[in-house]
Amino acid sequence: MILAIQDVTCGRSPEFINQFHPLSTCHLFSFAISITFEASMFTLTRQIALRRVYSPHLVASLGQRHAGHYAPSRRFSFSSLGGTLALVGAGLSTAFFVERTVHADFPPAQKIIDSRNSDANNATPLSSLVRAYIVYTMCSFPPLVDAAPKLLEVLTSIPVIRNITETFVRVTFFDQFVGGETAQGTLPLLHSFREANKGVLFAYSIEVDANEANASNSPSKKKRQPIHKRCVDEMIRSVDVAADFEDSIVGRHTHDGRRTWVAIKMTALLPDAQSLIALSSHILATRPQAEPSIPFPGCSYPTDLNILDTDSSSRFLNDKDIVSLRELHSDLRRICLRARERGVKLIIDAEYSWYQPAIDAMQLALMREFNKVVSQNDESRPAVQPLIYGTFQAYLRRTPLHLAQSYRDAQANNYKLGVKLVRGAYHPHEVLAHEAVRLHGQHSLSISPDELPPVWTTKSETDRCYDECVKLLVGWVKEDLRRSTSTTSTSLGISIASWFGKKDKLKQSDYPNIGVLFGTHNWSSVKLILNELVTNGLAATENLGNQEEEPTLRLDDEVTERVTLGQLYGMSDELTSYIVRRTHSNSPMVIKYVPYGTLSETIPYLSRRAIENKSVLGDGHASEERARAGREIRTRIFG
Ligand SMILES: Cc1cc2nc3c(=O)[nH]c(=O)nc-3n(C[C@H](O)[C@H](O)[C@H](O)COP(=O)(O)OP(=O)(O)OC[C@H]3O[C@@H](n4cnc5c(N)ncnc54)[C@H](O)[C@@H]3O)c2cc1C
Repeated sequence: MILAIQDVTCGRSPEFINQFHPLSTCHLFSFAISITFEASMFTLTRQIALRRVYSPHLVASLGQRHAGHYAPSRRFSFSSLGGTLALVGAGLSTAFFVERTVHADFPPAQKIIDSRNSDANNATPLSSLVRAYIVYTMCSFPPLVDAAPKLLEVLTSIPVIRNITETFVRVTFFDQFVGGETAQGTLPLLHSFREANKGVLFAYSIEVDANEANASNSPSKKKRQPIHKRCVDEMIRSVDVAADFEDSIVGRHTHDGRRTWVAIKMTALLPDAQSLIALSSHILATRPQAEPSIPFPGCSYPTDLNILDTDSSSRFLNDKDIVSLRELHSDLRRICLRARERGVKLIIDAEYSWYQPAIDAMQLALMREFNKVVSQNDESRPAVQPLIYGTFQAYLRRTPLHLAQSYRDAQANNYKLGVKLVRGAYHPHEVLAHEAVRLHGQHSLSISPDELPPVWTTKSETDRCYDECVKLLVGWVKEDLRRSTSTTSTSLGISIASWFGKKDKLKQSDYPNIGVLFGTHNWSSVKLILNELVTNGLAATENLGNQEEEPTLRLDDEVTERVTLGQLYGMSDELTSYIVRRTHSNSPMVIKYVPYGTLSETIPYLSRRAIENKSVLGDGHASEERARAGREIRTRIFG
């Protein structure tokens, strides 16, 4: 313990640190509290073990959030209480002692609001704040985050330790970052979000393990569906849950204001994600050269998937790959057909660059097919447009050109472009994979033929790229409205066409030509997006008389159908609530990306997320989140 504390404090005495470096004191206390917490959890779980309640199901129920699922036994409730008290006690003392450090780059101190189940005036349960505090304290230690996947793998392979680990993960990371065990189980969350004018992007977060996928073909598991097929079915189920929820909120026949969408992670939908890499390599070797050339992973062409429709062979793809990829395409179509029928948008996630040529190709095929305007005479179904959104990662050098080419293709081929703009989650891996090949001549997953890495090498380049794309996209939304908005007054009594002063030459269309979801936790980016909406005449400012507050923005339905902002569940709740406070609209302007799945399904997701979140939680973000939770805990207790 002493060694560990010395490690945390870089070998200096606490007095020294206390005097000169309050942040280190914060870490010191946090560390001590973490130890206390772990000891409490150990004692608690030992009690459970002594009472012979070994079953993982029961142990897992210790932290069961949705009490309606199943009722724990009385002795279990007692243990649960112990765990909660330990958690609360640890967090409170930490919060009280620690949070004296003020970060210069904090956004203006405001009351902390947990947007997951409350709005500005509703307080987050204290236990959630304490959980957030503990989770973000752990996320502030990069070595711990790096070790997390290995640590979890080892700990969950040892029988009793596995139960302890799962319990710990459940009451901390799972509850913080995962919305529930099933799509149905997230319904209370969906309702509370909507009450606070926030939407949801659902994501079934199972990770396909190649071993399990292959094992499902073994004779003993003959009757069991392969795991990737279960993922496809689950995604269809989540479309239905999203649609039923929206039908109950906005009505079955309306296509406006539907804000429960479904995310698609393509690598989870086939037996072996390696087939996507093989397809990417094939596409790179066979697609026409773009003029001017576009950095890797380039831009997709409608011919990219030809190999799946012909009998010709490729040195990159074996028969198994072809079968898997054909099936993937048909499963994706199945999901899209259901989404179209039920009026639920599908947002395709972006992944590592070595999957992107294949993902882009599938995405393009789906957008060309499903983002065409469907018959407007059919009143029986809510036709949301664009139905399919692709994800564009601003950390890729190609992105501005890729966006421009995608926009041109959509216009030339008369379909709606759906764009989710993010910075990108895999930066360190992309750099390492590229360097392994280019600098060290080693084998890696990178398939880029370019000298430069596919990603920008500095954060400021990525930021600049994100900002440029924001301006480009808001400009296109403005263009879209100029062309397609009717001259009749809208629900807020504003004629958007008159904002542009071009009432004539309007093309009548009920559907947007472009839909954009800006995914970011960055305050500057969010402020830029809101400012761009104002300067492009897409939002009207209110409250201008009040110098103390930032003006609120009034957005018409035509704009909110085209522009949405989003943050990950469990993260940047203050930013999400800031967006809600600053905007007035009939339907949510902001959504939370909510992963769901059982604990055992999401443990690989959580450990991968821990690593990916290093980018998200790096640069002091974890410390900021922790500090916010700490401030709120102190405010709650001491006023
Ligand atoms: C709703 C939503 C959906 C998302 N979906 C996806 C998805 O489908 N695919 C995906 O990849 N990610 C996705 N993400 C995660 C996203 O890409 C970012 O990792 C995350 O949001 C952090 O970026 P930021 O803009 O929030 O914050 P910031 O803290 O401002 O930016 C952090 C990001 O900057 C970039 N960066 C950091 N260091 C460097 C460097 N040295 N050089 C260049 N760039 C650097 C990285 O992209 C890093 O993630 C999603 C995020 C949200 C909110």
